[in-house]
Amino acid sequence: MRCFYSRRSGSWATVGCCSPGMRNPSRECENSVRRGPSALTRPRAANKHGERGGEGRNAKCKMKNEKYRTIHGIPKHSPFFILHFAFPPVLVRARPQEPPEMSLRHRVLQAALAAWMLCLAFWPATCPAAAAEKPRLVVVVSIDQFPFEYLERFRHNFSPDGLFLELVDKGLVYSNCHHAHAFTFTGPGHASLLTGAYPATHGIIANEWYDRATDKTINCVSDKDAAIVGDDAAGGISPRNLLAPTVGDVMKLESAGRSKVFGIALKDRAAILMTGRAADGAFWMHKNMWVTSKYYRSDLPGYLRVLNESGVAKQQAGKEWPLLLDRAKYADHRPDNSPVENPPDGFGRDFPHKFAAADDKKYEGQFNVSPFANEYILLGAERLMQYEQLGRDEHVDLLCVGLSPNDLCGHAFDPYSLEVEDMTYRTDLMLGAFKRAVDAHMDGRPWLLVLTSDHGIAPNPLFAADRRLGAKADPLGKKDELQAKIDAALARRFPAPFGAKSYVQKIENHQVFLLRDQPALAGENYVTAQQIVRDVLVEQPSVAVAATRNDLIAANGQTDILRSLARAFHARRSGDVLFVMQPYHVHVDKTGTTHGAPWRYDTHVPLIFYGPGIERGTVDRKTHVAALAPTVSRLIGMPAPPASDEETLGEAVRR
Ligand SMILES: [Zn+2]
Repeated sequence: MRCFYSRRSGSWATVGCCSPGMRNPSRECENSVRRGPSALTRPRAANKHGERGGEGRNAKCKMKNEKYRTIHGIPKHSPFFILHFAFPPVLVRARPQEPPEMSLRHRVLQAALAAWMLCLAFWPATCPAAAAEKPRLVVVVSIDQFPFEYLERFRHNFSPDGLFLELVDKGLVYSNCHHAHAFTFTGPGHASLLTGAYPATHGIIANEWYDRATDKTINCVSDKDAAIVGDDAAGGISPRNLLAPTVGDVMKLESAGRSKVFGIALKDRAAILMTGRAADGAFWMHKNMWVTSKYYRSDLPGYLRVLNESGVAKQQAGKEWPLLLDRAKYADHRPDNSPVENPPDGFGRDFPHKFAAADDKKYEGQFNVSPFANEYILLGAERLMQYEQLGRDEHVDLLCVGLSPNDLCGHAFDPYSLEVEDMTYRTDLMLGAFKRAVDAHMDGRPWLLVLTSDHGIAPNPLFAADRRLGAKADPLGKKDELQAKIDAALARRFPAPFGAKSYVQKIENHQVFLLRDQPALAGENYVTAQQIVRDVLVEQPSVAVAATRNDLIAANGQTDILRSLARAFHARRSGDVLFVMQPYHVHVDKTGTTHGAPWRYDTHVPLIFYGPGIERGTVDRKTHVAALAPTVSRLIGMPAPPASDEETLGEAVRR
């Protein structure tokens, strides 16, 4: 059974189903041009405009498609077109006069037609034929650092041409959806989205973490054996640190490699960790240029090289970032020129922000916090979708898009700034245009859009303190001071460490690492040392919760906060004692802000599904973002990623 869809006023609508025997000429035409990623991305094939061979063939197909849009004078997307083929003897054959006695076949056909019409009348509740066709393309858009409350606080200024109003009005909105691991950073968040697993399993415990074996801090996507294509001098990058498979990895397995899986973002970790180890490609920005890793391929696809050479990423040089709307339409949280803001060098704290010259080193940082970088990412995503021919055949494809500039903007200016507000309005418009581009590319074929985020954000602590929220900047003081307190407590129980100044090896990412190979910490003493450190931590006024590795290994069934810490704890990678700061106690000095706590301002993000067969509505039940993975898998008829830890979201898969 196949169903056709047409977009009416921007919404999906089932218009009918055809018989299994009916051939779909437009689909056959598309299949005929599929040649796999290697042929389509071969750089030699691109001319100076970035166009490739096969355009003539596409043009022929287009003509064929035009021809099939009307058959026998009946528009293809009309229910009558479907009826015409499903019941040709009844509807088409000329019968000037009914015979006195109808044949049995005729009666059966008439009864079937009546039942079918009845079904249509009560669709979708009663008609099994209304089951939606599976999406051919899944587009997951993660807006980096995008708390759910932005959809509400800024809603009055969203544009009818943007995406957010359309999603909120017509999509399936999970309004109480949270990241459920404690340390809500970009790496763990993006890894959880499409593995459905937590740092405890996927191993991405932070953006960077201290590696005891090498005594070095490693990046979540660093890999010395996978150089960046086009910049051998830069450190290598790959998904090898990701320990759990993604939705995309399973798609590659189940489709014998025919499904295409791509990621594109400003940040490497967003593009890589959403797509996984088996992806066809992940692309990110490095020095204002699109790059990839030799892990995926030895060259950059022609369509991205063309963008690099076009200089589009430098087109803001010397220009301004002005407010999109009248100043009076913005929330008035504080003066634009606020001392709590920490803009990139030379960008200023108030509107309009002026970009440096193209050859100025300051330009890259300024461009990356601006909405124009999002426009550039979405342009790259659009080209990728078109040139890789995503969604064009029966094998479902996956495109993961990471809008990282929202995060950089939020860190610099804080969530109550004019900059974040303006960035959100512009992101809305850009995503609206992007969705229209995907609609045009898919040309009526079903596709699924998922909008979400890797984490939220805390307000700048000085601004929050000014609003009497009990906030505190730099809440633990200097690491040396905290370490001195821990050392003093351990010294009361253990002799001086052997060959070292302290039993504390590292304090990083809300974790204390102990020198556990010290003779004095052998056996039960190691557990005792962890407990001593934990007790020192919970005595600090800014610490909300602290737990030892033993606490966390046994944490299932305990409080939500302990469970979130347990999900954040990886037995080989994490420290010995983990802790959580009090709400609004933020690790910044005076300016800017950050995220990384299990409090709602950091965990609460949108999760919205939009596409054929997805019922519109709002679900207020508390859910976890990691449920995205098994839910998308279910929607595309694939097994869920093996380590995924959450239930499928029932409302989204009810079809
Ligand atoms: Zn992030």
